[in-house]
This record gives sequence, structure tokens and C-alpha cells, in this order.
Amino acid sequence: MKHWKIGLLAFCVSGALHAAPLPVVSSFSILGDVTKQIGGERVAVQSLVGADQDAHAYHLTSADIKKISAAKLVLVNGLGLEKAELSRAVKQSKVAYAEAAAGINALKMPESGHHHDHGEGEHHHHDHGEYDPHVWTDPVLMQKYAANVADALIKADPAGKTYYQQRLSSYQGELKKLDAYATQKFNAVPKGQRKVLTGHDAFAYMGKRYGIMFIAPQGVSSEAQPSAKQVAAIIRQVKREGIKAVFTENIKDTRMIDRIAKETGAKIGGKLYSDALSNGAPANTYINMYRHNVDTLSGAMK
Ligand SMILES: [Zn+2]
Repeated sequence: MKHWKIGLLAFCVSGALHAAPLPVVSSFSILGDVTKQIGGERVAVQSLVGADQDAHAYHLTSADIKKISAAKLVLVNGLGLEKAELSRAVKQSKVAYAEAAAGINALKMPESGHHHDHGEGEHHHHDHGEYDPHVWTDPVLMQKYAANVADALIKADPAGKTYYQQRLSSYQGELKKLDAYATQKFNAVPKGQRKVLTGHDAFAYMGKRYGIMFIAPQGVSSEAQPSAKQVAAIIRQVKREGIKAVFTENIKDTRMIDRIAKETGAKIGGKLYSDALSNGAPANTYINMYRHNVDTLSGAMK
């Protein structure tokens, strides 16, 4: 009898932690990590596009539709990162959803024609819209992103409000430190040397924040393949700008970058984690991923 009472008391005190965690589906691994950082023990997060996978190339599967229906909250990036088929499935499921990039002052997609190789008279359907979705490459914007995730968690699980708010504020503190770290690292590189080439155009927000010029043969969506003519133009640009380092990405085939490096004499500066975390080190969380990218970029630009 006594044991039973103690057991019941223990259950009441720690009831919040013992309740089943809130099932949350996130569209890709970076958003999944931000959700875990804020949701802590109160959430169980599954990402549709996992570590080292390309979010641009993702297509919805029936298994994913089941995950969405079983969730209490679906989080997407927004700004056209996810294809329309995903938003349709989420709306049909009637599960609550939120866009992490909502309210962020997004950059427009580059206008220039070299990003997408449209054949004459062809009408491609680009699900990505008018804005650049890669807001996570700026840790300052990520403070708002994290706040949006926290708001969505609070709506889905009001009992956890204080818990989520506390975790949000400590995570935002980490993001501020991350920005200070990146500022210090990039400021140590002379401005004229802050020029790099990556596979796809994922780093415009980072470029804007820290004054780095990024050139990317593949455009904003990694799905678009550059033509031979575009690659030749990029090679000329790398030579003209005196770009010293080119970078591969974890989500991409490295052949094009290898070829550009070979033809220009630029060195391969390392591997960047652009649109996905890694399984384990060095980019198993958003913050670790960002630090790795800052170290890799700033080290190779000098
Ligand atoms: Zn991308």
C-alpha cells in the first residue's frame, strides 16, 4: 500500500515527462534538429528527408503520408523548399502544421538565366517559388525560425509552454554565439578573398550576412543540372575572380566540382553541409553543421 502511494506521487510530480512525447514530423533534418533542441523530451521528431539526403529531390511516399497522419504537428521550412505535393498531403491530413521560415525577410531568387537551363519553349514546373528557401545559412535569421518552431509546439502542446519558452531562449543564446563565432572567423579573411564556389546556390543568406561571394553552377535548386556551356562560363568566372577554393556538398555528387577544380587549378576546400545534417560528426546538429561550414570556408579562403 505504501509503495503504491509513493509510486502514484512520483507519477504525479514527473507526469509531464512520463506522458507520451508529442509526435512531430519535420520536412528535413535541419528543421528536425531545431525542433528537437526546443522540444527536448516532450517531443518525438521524425524528419521526412534525413541526414545526407537532398531535400530538393524529395518525393512524398505512402509511408510518409502515414507518418504525417500519425503526427500531432507537421513542420515545414516553407519558401518553396518543399514541393506542393507535401503541402497538399499535410492539408488533407488535417494535422496542424506551421512554416518555420514564416515572417523571415527572405531573399528573392536570383533572376539570372544561368541558374536554370530552360530549353526553348519548354515550361518547367518549379515548385520552388520566388524566394530562396535556404534561410538556415544565416544564424541571425534562425532566431526567428526557432521562435516559429517554439510557437507551433506551444500551440500543439500548451501544457509545455514554459518548458518550450525556456529552451527557446537558451537556444537563441546559442545562435547568438554562433553568429559571433562566424563573424570573427570571416572577418579574419580579407574581404577580397571571401569568394568561393559551391555546387548549388545554398549560401546566399550566409553570403549576405558575412560579405562572402558565392558562385554556384547549379542554381538554387540542386535538381537543375548545368549545361556544358554554363560550366564553361563558371570555369572562366573562377579564373577571372581568382577564386582559390571550391567546395563539395554532402548532398551532392562531386564530379562537377572535381572537374571545375581540375580545370581552374582551384583546390577543393572541403565538404560543406548545405541542406542536410550528417549522421554523427561533424554535422549532427544545426549548430555543429554551421561551425563546420564556417571553419571549412574560412580556412580555405585564406
Ligand atoms: Zn538547397
